[in-house]
Amino acid sequence: MMSKRDYYEVLGVGKNASEDEIKKAYRKLARQYHPDVNKTPGADEKFKEAKEAYEVLSDPQKKATYDQFGHVDPNMGAGGFSSQDFGFGDIFDMFFGGGGGGRRNPNAPQRGADLQYTMTIEFKEAVFGKEMDIQIPRTEECDTCHGSGAKPGTHPETCSVCKGTGQQEYVQQTAFGRIVNRRSCSTCGGTGKIIRDKCPECHGSGKLKKHRKIHVKIPAGVDDGAQLRISGEGEAGTRGGPPGDLYVVIRVNPHDFFERENDDIYCEVPLTFTQAALGDEIEIPTLTGKVKLKIPAGTQTGTYFRLKGKGVPRLRGYGQGDQHVKVVVVTPTNLSDKQKELLREIAQLSGEHTHEQQQSIFERMKKAILGD
Ligand SMILES: [Zn+2]
Ligand SMILES: [Zn+2]
Repeated sequence: MMSKRDYYEVLGVGKNASEDEIKKAYRKLARQYHPDVNKTPGADEKFKEAKEAYEVLSDPQKKATYDQFGHVDPNMGAGGFSSQDFGFGDIFDMFFGGGGGGRRNPNAPQRGADLQYTMTIEFKEAVFGKEMDIQIPRTEECDTCHGSGAKPGTHPETCSVCKGTGQQEYVQQTAFGRIVNRRSCSTCGGTGKIIRDKCPECHGSGKLKKHRKIHVKIPAGVDDGAQLRISGEGEAGTRGGPPGDLYVVIRVNPHDFFERENDDIYCEVPLTFTQAALGDEIEIPTLTGKVKLKIPAGTQTGTYFRLKGKGVPRLRGYGQGDQHVKVVVVTPTNLSDKQKELLREIAQLSGEHTHEQQQSIFERMKKAILGD
């Protein structure tokens, strides 16, 4: 973990590199070091390193985490944790606070935790985008004391016991020499500050639980499982630290008629036997209204027709996907005598075998197989 190279350095791009630049840099390295192409020692490691860097930097959420916290213990799944399970504040505590190394400064500003909100939208809303307000419960800085926790007009005082460090030192003389133990200051609870008159609104915490209305713009073309990051709309930070981010996870309800695969739309339409045989022009529902589709004579069941540009707007880039129409020929049922008669006539004209001829073919096949 210590020896790990910086991901930006690995890919040879700057911190402000665009998604495209990151992708290009990775592709270049992948071509150079892929184990199928490059058998020199160390190439494999270089390839793995580049792959890992790309996996993190190409994922907006992982990239944001990496930008803020750097490498995360690989046992944690390299940024694969969900913000639902851990606030980033907790992660911060886990790696920089508790256990092992020295305690971080109790007066240091701390970033607020990230929040996750799942919202379900309709199929067409995902295709065309949607703007809406959502209500999220979150902790915000107290308006009355502006986060200090002290009654307006008063200020928190620096703890005289720990001199604001939040820690107390206990010196022990032992046979092996002097041992200095550090403990969280019991007078100020490790905050380094004493609030004499607590803010009546937040009771000294400096924070309040609120329901906040947030305006969310869902871009056209989002798909099920997409995650929108709304910067700075997470929980309030502590001691002047920045707020966390809000992640909105999009769930898309299925459509009765359309199915979606990436930017393409799939649907199935029935054709009658005569439409398939003689050809026809039929109306196809699309996301933007009905369009006419020419069915050529002699169309087989299961044939796909493509309606170019009738798919989903591309989220990244320009243009739209296509709509693929699968035609299914429906065998006629409940035929009248007259209809049956006409179909028999067709069969005869087409040179199709009659029932008796079919039987004799079947007999011959049986003999061939059984060798009788
Ligand atoms: Zn307050
Ligand atoms: Zn103290």
